[in-house]
Amino acid sequence: PAIESKRLRIAMQKSGRLSVDSQALFSSCGLKINLREQRLIAHVENMPIDILRVRDDDIPGLVMDGVCDLGIIGENVLEEVSLQRQLDQENFDYEVLARLDFGGCRLSIAVPQEENYQGVQSLDGKTIATTYPRLLARFLKQQGVNARIVMLTGSVEVAPRAGLADAICDLVSTGATLEANGLKEAEVIYRSKAVLIQRKGLTDAGQLKLIRKLMPRIQGVMQANE
Ligand code: ATP
Ligand code: ZN
Repeated sequence: PAIESKRLRIAMQKSGRLSVDSQALFSSCGLKINLREQRLIAHVENMPIDILRVRDDDIPGLVMDGVCDLGIIGENVLEEVSLQRQLDQENFDYEVLARLDFGGCRLSIAVPQEENYQGVQSLDGKTIATTYPRLLARFLKQQGVNARIVMLTGSVEVAPRAGLADAICDLVSTGATLEANGLKEAEVIYRSKAVLIQRKGLTDAGQLKLIRKLMPRIQGVMQANE
């Protein structure tokens, strides 16, 4: 008798900027999901797939630790977690199956509007608040700038006004939030989109076959959206 495959586990953001588009992608690929609100796990009715709904920050680790097989995550979070795990000597392997057509944003350094910003050297000796300390540190190092990084997990854009920092490094899509907080965009340090990632070392034949069946559908949905 054939050995039965384990169900494929896919991690997606439970609620936030990636969740509606992630869900729509699954639906377009033919997955029938009963997403009852407070549930962590949703079973796909017509395929051997379970959807795990978690905070986006947890998705890279779940895939890198092999707890989930696939995940949809913003490259900004993926890269940040990856750099951090590298430093912590934890496993940071994964494979990108597709760059998706949603979740677009940029990670930028912003400074007070009244500041006479003259380029990256203006940041020398400054304190910069961010949720992305590793990506920021990498950028500053590449640019040869010495600045102090302060880690904040929320309300980063109010840090300069609150006297906690001279500048910030945060996600921007339209710039309206920056403006509302008296800030202006000074440097784009990273451009991000959502990606579909797979854990390394996935060998289950049934699971691989299922992924091979889903990939052309995902590519098809993205072409249709162009
Ligand atoms: P969670 O509760 O899951 O931790 P969150 O508050 O950290 O959610 P969201 O604000 O929902 O995260 O953003 C999730 C991802 O959406 C971001 O990491 C980024 O990749 C993408 N994104 C797209 N546009 C924006 C934007 N304008 N601002 C912030 N993130 C954006
Ligand atoms: Zn988050």
